[in-house]
Amino acid sequence: MTKNLKWRCESCGYTVEEKQPPENCPACKQKCKFANVTCYTPDCGGPGNIDPNLYDRKEKKK
Ligand SMILES: [Zn+2]
Repeated sequence: MTKNLKWRCESCGYTVEEKQPPENCPACKQKCKFANVTCYTPDCGGPGNIDPNLYDRKEKKK
């Protein structure tokens, strides 16, 4: 069984849970870049959760 991954739109921050990132963002309707923000360590709860470090890093770059 393949776990869904967490994808975050780099334009609007919308997060989806799919095996592949969507071509068009459901929130901003653009062909956005999606960053994989899936957690891979037990620190953030393992796969199925969002890694807060990956998630926050993009926000702070603005
Ligand atoms: Zn978006």
